[in-house]
Amino acid sequence: MQQDKIQELIRKAEEILPNSYAPYSGIHVASAILTDKGNIYQGVNIENASLGLTMCAERTAIFNMVTHGDRKPIIVAIVTDYEEPIPPCGACRQVIAEFNPEATIAMYSTKSKKLVITNLKQLLPTPFKIKQE
Ligand SMILES: [Zn+2]
Repeated sequence: MQQDKIQELIRKAEEILPNSYAPYSGIHVASAILTDKGNIYQGVNIENASLGLTMCAERTAIFNMVTHGDRKPIIVAIVTDYEEPIPPCGACRQVIAEFNPEATIAMYSTKSKKLVITNLKQLLPTPFKIKQE
């Protein structure tokens, strides 16, 4: 069941991988996330000549989810044309944790066909959190 969903998300991310804007690193990344409502949101990495302004694919997808009124990612797929699957960076881990600290993370390389599946709790056991009433 979850395997089927992960495969679907990998396909959805692969579809938009050519839209990745990565003229500086040459590493293209796309993300597709499934929410608790059954919706899928996509995003690609968007680099900038001012490198610090670069936005990762995962955060683009999460921001897309929030923009459309959804709030809980269940599975986050990250697809790249790099040789190895790429894990989310620290900033993306924190941003995903804001909405679901236990999200499943699936990382796939279109080049090596390697798939790594883990959980955000493994990648970021103690996210920064402000207590909310
Ligand atoms: Zn990132």
